[in-house]
Amino acid sequence: MKVAVFSTNYYDREYLISANAAGKHQLTFFNEPLRLESIILATGFNAVCIVVSDDANKKVIDQLSVFGIRLITLRSTGFDNVNLAAAEALHIKVMRVPSYSPQSIAEHATALALTLNRKTHKAYNRVRDNNFSLNNLMGFTLSGKIVGVVGTGKIGRAFCTIMQGFGCRVIACDIRENQAMKEKGIEYKTFEELLCLTDIISIHCPLTSATHHLFNSHAFSKLKKGAMLINTSRGGVIKTTDAVEALKSGQLGYLGIDVYEGEANLFFKDMSGTIVEDDLIERLMSFNNVLITPHQAFFTKEAVEQIAVTTIQNLSDFENHISSANELKSVPNKPAKLAANENV
Ligand code: NAD
Repeated sequence: MKVAVFSTNYYDREYLISANAAGKHQLTFFNEPLRLESIILATGFNAVCIVVSDDANKKVIDQLSVFGIRLITLRSTGFDNVNLAAAEALHIKVMRVPSYSPQSIAEHATALALTLNRKTHKAYNRVRDNNFSLNNLMGFTLSGKIVGVVGTGKIGRAFCTIMQGFGCRVIACDIRENQAMKEKGIEYKTFEELLCLTDIISIHCPLTSATHHLFNSHAFSKLKKGAMLINTSRGGVIKTTDAVEALKSGQLGYLGIDVYEGEANLFFKDMSGTIVEDDLIERLMSFNNVLITPHQAFFTKEAVEQIAVTTIQNLSDFENHISSANELKSVPNKPAKLAANENV
């Protein structure tokens, strides 16, 4: 199958070429993201392969259909950047990589929390400058703290297990409770209860209409003063302007994010030689209790290899008309409900 692979870096190419060693598919790599402005690149292909920073909105999908594209395959788990209903209406199949290494993301969330707490990033720079003072490096003992996990899917569950290993009490909220996690001692509460009770919160739910700006001024006002918030899920789950206000007031004590609402224009690019026009991320970076990484939580050898293998498998399954659990179907959005016992 002829596939236009958008938003590629050297590592995407290396691992996809290796997964496609048998030469089943003809892959053409583009550095450009998929956008209306770059869509002409998809001419003459049967499928497009995209990532989270690409934009498969309705207009893009309409045009892809005109070009004869029959498959959009995502090299990611999250698919909030694809208008599934528009694709379905035009009989374009959408596939994804539902799981590649949940531990990779959970471990990165842990790294953000530990770094913010123990300030190893500051110590590293300080010591290189022959400054061996301990001023402002004091952290807190993680063992015994209460950790809140929003979304106990594959990544959330891995994060719960890591936090239990640190000796933390773990509270979770999800629209579906996980029995196995309950048996492991995870306590399910409502979202509001979780906000009030926890010292550290880690977000692991998808971005949906129900979770968009879930962390807003109202949620921040319910936090334990000085709590830590970690987000490796999707930027849109946090209303960034409200987070800035909560940081200024000290209500939010630490913020560690691997994802950001405006990341599509910034992340995965080297912008060190240009002027960044996004004032909000610049404001965030001015706080000494904010740590930002550029959507790298997934970025381990194991995960990138698995993404490539599953992507090639998705292409083959589509070509051979094999039905796959990796296909995405559009479902009407359900209203936001975060009560602990709700089953949807
Ligand atoms: P998953 O589908 O296994 O789990 C998501 C969980 O969130 C489910 O248990 C679901 O019931 C729950 N959920 C849905 N709506 C909710 C709500 N309103 N409130 C609370 N919980 C809710 O997904 P996963 O593999 O664990 O991935 C989670 C998210 O992590 C993805 O959607 C993606 O956005 C993000 N992600 C980020 C990276 C990265 O590199 N930063 C990599 C992979 C995934």
